[in-house]
Order: sequence, then C-alpha cells, then structure tokens
Amino acid sequence: MKVKLILPSLTEAKSPFFRPIKYSLFPPLGLATLAAYLDKNDEIDLQDQHVEKLNLDDLPDLVIIQVYITNAYRAYNIAQQYKNKGVYVALGGLHVSSLPHEARPYADTIFIGPGEQTFPAFIKDFKAKKPKPTYTSTVGRTIQNQPPIRRDLIKREKYLVPNSIVMSRGCPHHCDFCYKDAFFKGGKSFYTQRVDEILPEISKLKGKHLYFLDDHLLGNPKLAAELFEGMRGMNRVFQGAATVKSILEGDLIEKAAQAGLRSVFVGFETFSPKNLQQSNKSQNLKLNYEKAVKRLHDLGIMINGSFVFGLDNDNKDVFKRTVDWGVNNAITTSTYHILTPYPGTRLYQNLEKEGRIITNNWDLYDTRHVVYQSKQLSNQELEHGYHWAYKEFYKWNNVFKASFSHDTIKHQMKHLFYKGGWKKFEGLWNFIINAGGLKRMLPFLELLLSEINNEAPKLPGNSKRIQKLPNQQYYEKVG
Ligand code: SF4
Repeated sequence: MKVKLILPSLTEAKSPFFRPIKYSLFPPLGLATLAAYLDKNDEIDLQDQHVEKLNLDDLPDLVIIQVYITNAYRAYNIAQQYKNKGVYVALGGLHVSSLPHEARPYADTIFIGPGEQTFPAFIKDFKAKKPKPTYTSTVGRTIQNQPPIRRDLIKREKYLVPNSIVMSRGCPHHCDFCYKDAFFKGGKSFYTQRVDEILPEISKLKGKHLYFLDDHLLGNPKLAAELFEGMRGMNRVFQGAATVKSILEGDLIEKAAQAGLRSVFVGFETFSPKNLQQSNKSQNLKLNYEKAVKRLHDLGIMINGSFVFGLDNDNKDVFKRTVDWGVNNAITTSTYHILTPYPGTRLYQNLEKEGRIITNNWDLYDTRHVVYQSKQLSNQELEHGYHWAYKEFYKWNNVFKASFSHDTIKHQMKHLFYKGGWKKFEGLWNFIINAGGLKRMLPFLELLLSEINNEAPKLPGNSKRIQKLPNQQYYEKVG
C-alpha cells in the first residue's frame, strides 16, 4: 500500500513574516509517530511543506494530512486535490479535533483527538476495506508500549533540530486560551511514556542535542526526576518547556540541569493576577517570576519567555512593561503573542458569547493578528504594540544590555550569540538553508548549549545580575 503523510505549511510560510529558520527547526514528529502503525511493507512518503516542495502529482492509496489552524485552508485544498483524483483522504490534528464539521467535507475519514489509538484502529479497518468516517479518541489513551517512531522517514538534513522527542502528551493544567482541553476532550489530557522506554529511544538518537516537545516536561515530577537521573552521564544537552511553578518547587530543575537542560521555554504570559485568574492560569498566581528567572540563570539555563498581549486587564503600557521586564531580567529570547481565541477553547466560547470575535478567518489566527475585540486596546494599538515589542526586545542595545547582565563571560557570550543568532542574522540563515548547510549548524547549537561553569570569576561591574523592575510594585502583586 502507498501512503502519503503531509504536513502543509502554515499560512505565514507565504507571508512577509516568514522566517525560514523558524520553520526548519523540528521535523514532523507526529506524522512519523503515526507512520509507526503502518506495515513495514507499506510504501510511505512523508512530506513537510515547510522544508520541501510538495509533490501532489502522485496517486497513493491513502493520504493523511495534519491540520493546524493556520494551515487549515491549505490542508483542505490539498485534500480536495487528492479527493478529486479518487484518493482516500484522512485528516487529523488540532484544528480537525476542534472543528470536525468544518473538516469533514474535505476528508473520507477524520480523526478527533490524539492518534495513538484511533490511527491503528483506522488502518486495520482501511485494510479490511471498511473504514469509518470518524475515529474519536476517548478512554484508554496511552503512549506506552507503542511501536518505535519511524525516524527513518524524517529528512534530518533539512532541520536544525532533528532530535525532537516527547515523553508525555498534554499537560496537567487547564488554561482557558490553550488548545489542550479541546484536543484531549473525552479522555485523559496528560499521560506519559515510561522512563525505561524513553531512555533507550534517547540513546539511539545521533548527536548530543535533544529537544523535548512536551507541553510541560516537568509535569509529572516523579517521572521527570527518574528521566533526569537516567540521563545523567549520557552527555546530552537538551531544551524543553516548564511552568514557573515547577521551576520554583523542589529540586527538579537542578536535576534537569545536571542531566543537560540548557534552555527552557517558560509560559510567563502575563504579570497581572487578574489576567491569570481570568485565564484560569492559576498555577502562575502568587509566584515570583524573578525568583524563577534567577534560579534558572544560576543553573546556567537560558530562558525563552512566552508573553501574551491583549488580555482584559492589559492596557497601553503592557508592551513596554513586558519588554523592560524581559531585558532587565536577562531573558534570552522572548516569544510574544497577541491573545488568540482558538476555536474549541473556553476563551473562544466566552468571547463569542460576549460578541467579541471579529473574524473566523483562520489564516489570521496566527497570534500576530487581532481577531477579537480587546477590552482596553484598539486593534491597531494591539497589533502595533505587538510588533513594537519584538523590535524593541531584539534591538542591539537591549541584546547587549541583557547579555552583559550575566555574571560570567561564558554566560554573557552564550546569551549574546544565542539571541543574536536566532534573530539578527536572517539573511545568513536563509543562505545556509538554501545551500543545504543546516545539518552543519547543529554542532554550533550544541556549543551554545554547553554547560556554564558558575564558579568562573565574576566580571567587574557586572554585579547587577537581576535588576529591579521599573514597575516592581505592579509585579509584586504577583510575587
Ligand atoms: S500550562 Fe501551557 S500547555 Fe498547560 S494548559 Fe496552560 S498553556 Fe496549555
């Protein structure tokens, strides 16, 4: 049987905002995971439109397309092209799970929720020539005892970070703006692999670097502690995501650092307790963000901070306040988002009830456009503030200011080159990608993620590691 697995590119891949390096980071691990349920004799073609031109002239027996919100129209178009040729088309992913009725006309089969149980059931039925129109994931979800991911289908050379990996699905929290609850509706929304499964998988991956794509790598503290214990001595460097709370509690973050954690994505999102309460992000309430930042810096862990603009309690000063905090606290990279009510989330339902959704053009649901009416900001103010924040945070003077507030030269240089490399040399990245040189960049990334020896002598005049916030009184409401 010939099977085609497709990840269509997101809308921004054809927009002026497109940064090829941003979309050449991770391979389509989800599709490679599904491919593991196919037969060894099946002929499988896995294509990722972010890094290659799709070949749509073929005639496979089955096409599987992964649909996100901002590739939805592109995915439907590709699906229709195959359907017109009489090819069987199946659609799944976050957007299909949120809006199955929208996806249904473009597919012979749709998958609702995660695919570990629905996809093998579908394949069995498809081979028996009696596939159903819908497969819904409900009870009995697990990612334990699954067949090995078909990493052989991944074109490693096309990605900066080919070794992406997950040890869990979902997250123990329930933020209103997050897709998670819509996707995992009807069953468990946080479940994990076993450590004795993940460690052998790690040891098979080439190179030193790993990126854990888990929503919350420290979400199950006991399991995470076992994982980090098992990874000690493996000589790995890795990146992942964690909450502020998990960074502050216990000694898990120290264990992670000892195992090789060198950079972490942290969802700070907002400094306003009212915004946190309203978004059901209570796990961040009453936490001292600065303390978490200091703890990470002391362990030599770089920080990618995530921040949301446009929550109900945000007014015009939110942009400057957020950027200043990031620079003054030496956050390595910042990811800013305009609040985006994804369909299926509680946020979308609430805003819809209040008549505040202004468009259902999914191409605009990319966290760069305003798609709802904010309470205290005009659409123009919100979009302008968002772009200003990115520009301001990554201005050279702010890059230098944040970099040189670390204690040691090595930490300063790592910050400078990581941040500068990520945002300041777009032309160079484009050249490297076009020249097929991305695979040669991994050793540089590994070097940037090497351990910082915090015993190194302090530099004179650099004692202000973490400066006070200009708006300290505001932040202390949270801390
Ligand atoms: S902590 Fe992150 S992944 Fe978990 S529900 Fe909140 S936004 Fe989603």
